[in-house]
Amino acid sequence: MAELFYDADADLSIIQGRKVAVIGYGSQGHAHALSLRDLGVDVRVGLPEGSKSWAKAQEQGLRVVTPSEAAAEGDVIMILVPDPVQAQVYEESIASNLKDGDALFFGHGFNIRFGFIKPPAGVDVCMVAPKGPGHLVRRQYEEGRGVPCIAAVEQDAGGSAFELALSYAKGIGGTRAGVIRTSFTEEAETDLFGEQAVLAGGTTALVKAGFETLVEAGYQPEIAYFECLHELKLIVDLMYEGGLEKMRWSISETAEWGDYVSGPRIINESTKAEMRKILSEIQDGSFARNWMDEYHGGLKKYRQFKQADENHSIEITGRELRKLMSWVSSED
Ligand code: NAD
Ligand code: MG
Ligand code: MG
Ligand code: MG
Ligand code: MG
Ligand code: MG
Repeated sequence: MAELFYDADADLSIIQGRKVAVIGYGSQGHAHALSLRDLGVDVRVGLPEGSKSWAKAQEQGLRVVTPSEAAAEGDVIMILVPDPVQAQVYEESIASNLKDGDALFFGHGFNIRFGFIKPPAGVDVCMVAPKGPGHLVRRQYEEGRGVPCIAAVEQDAGGSAFELALSYAKGIGGTRAGVIRTSFTEEAETDLFGEQAVLAGGTTALVKAGFETLVEAGYQPEIAYFECLHELKLIVDLMYEGGLEKMRWSISETAEWGDYVSGPRIINESTKAEMRKILSEIQDGSFARNWMDEYHGGLKKYRQFKQADENHSIEITGRELRKLMSWVSSED
């Protein structure tokens, strides 16, 4: 059974006694900085001069300095810049400002797990990774709820790094929903696998294949869009609330029967064999190396994939239909 931690298990005063530097002010950065600040934690945000986020963070009442200044001032340094640039930001702005007793924090285990960042022995190395997008982390916090987090310690220099990580997690609302103890390795590998095989990659491929099959067979794209994309939200909401069982309770018996007999024909042994291959490429580091090469080589293939999907007919159909559904918002 996983080790779970809630509000009563975490001591907020630990993080309230530290100087926190949040490097980056994107999806996660803004959520962490604002929620910690609301609890009286001494927070500064580190951003490069000229960053678009600089004015936004200041307007929201935060003090903004450069990443080096933030790292020098802070004794808890949370790196929330995009994973592919973390190693460079670390080398240029953080490494020389780390002192024994400082703590280096991450929101994802990628750079530690795959060896792109190698912190010195005297600092704690911790992770607090919310299991949800940053905008939800902030919204749930403001509503008195929280997004569950997973927390890990890679290096416990001072002997109480996990208590510090739990305290930080409490400061962003994580212990309201529950914090599970993990390792950098488990988090990095399962996070990459989840987004590739199921959450992003598996889902977009499934949705597109279903839509294409209907449209190629001569059905109207608008009908195919509702069947294969729009309704997915309702199904996922039911699974989120009550597992597969609640979803199957809500759909018709005909839909339920079709689920049992056809689902395993779509996601079958060969799909699982490919999932295992994807997992092994994550575990042996080749996915991480290839992605870093692609990123630092100018993102050529990435842009091609992005453009091809932007022009996919499911997107063109969807843009038109969503205009007619004013309640389907995309504020974030
Ligand atoms: P993001 O892309 O939303 O924001 C990145 C921020 O970093 C921006 O404010 C940007 O201006 C700043 N930045 C970019 N280059 C910089 C540089 N050289 N120096 C300083 N700042 C720079 O990033 P994100 O999605 O919040 O991801 C941050 C971390 O959180 C990653 O490790 C990611 O894996 C992790 N994470 C993200 C989510 C999510 O909801 N997006 C969920 C869980 C974990
Ligand atoms: Mg420091
Ligand atoms: Mg994830
Ligand atoms: Mg991820
Ligand atoms: Mg139906
Ligand atoms: Mg039913």
